[in-house]
Amino acid sequence: MNDSLPETILVVEDEEAIASFVSAYLRKDGFDVKSTASGRQALALVRSEQPSLVILDLMLPDLDGMEVCRRIRESSDLPVLMLTARDDDLDKIAGLDAGADDYLTKPFNPAELVARVRAILRRGTERPTGEGRTLSHGELVLDAGSRECHVGETEIRLAPKEFDLLWELLDHRGLVLTRDQLLERVWGYTFAGDTRTVDVHVRQLRKKLEDASPIVTVWGIGYKAAASPAAS
Ligand code: CA
Repeated sequence: MNDSLPETILVVEDEEAIASFVSAYLRKDGFDVKSTASGRQALALVRSEQPSLVILDLMLPDLDGMEVCRRIRESSDLPVLMLTARDDDLDKIAGLDAGADDYLTKPFNPAELVARVRAILRRGTERPTGEGRTLSHGELVLDAGSRECHVGETEIRLAPKEFDLLWELLDHRGLVLTRDQLLERVWGYTFAGDTRTVDVHVRQLRKKLEDASPIVTVWGIGYKAAASPAAS
């Protein structure tokens, strides 16, 4: 990241008050901000403005946020922070595979939004890349160099944060990690955040990996990767 050039954030939100409030906060924090109320226009702006991150409202008048995110994911790993109106929406999102990096429920504290944007951008440049290092669990293989996930011969396409979360769990297999620990390690929050983001990503991983998923829920605490495939 070049310190002298402000990074561009694209804000996609049809509620004028929220869009201007979020934009003002981001500008105050040194970002260049583009905004639109339209999902279709958002896709055009992603191409023309090359933003570093997209803040994307779930409910938009034309293309909804899930569809916009899915289309962005078809061609890039551009970070997406999804805004939702209710906690319930996270349950719906969890069943879909849009591949957002993070989720924030309205109403939110703008300072928290900016902190998450900063964390996502920082993490984007320091993902695990250990020289060809791989982690495996039965037929499941993660390759940090190519950032690919395979189950046997089949490649499973994971969103960036899904890969990072699975890597973190497998790298500490057998150990329980709390949601706050996972937020800090995978998303880079240094404060207790909205831990539902972790749950949404775990559900998406389980759906994609099916029987190959190593993830075990430890009620009231967090998650762990099973120590061995047989134990899962
Ligand atoms: Ca909306």
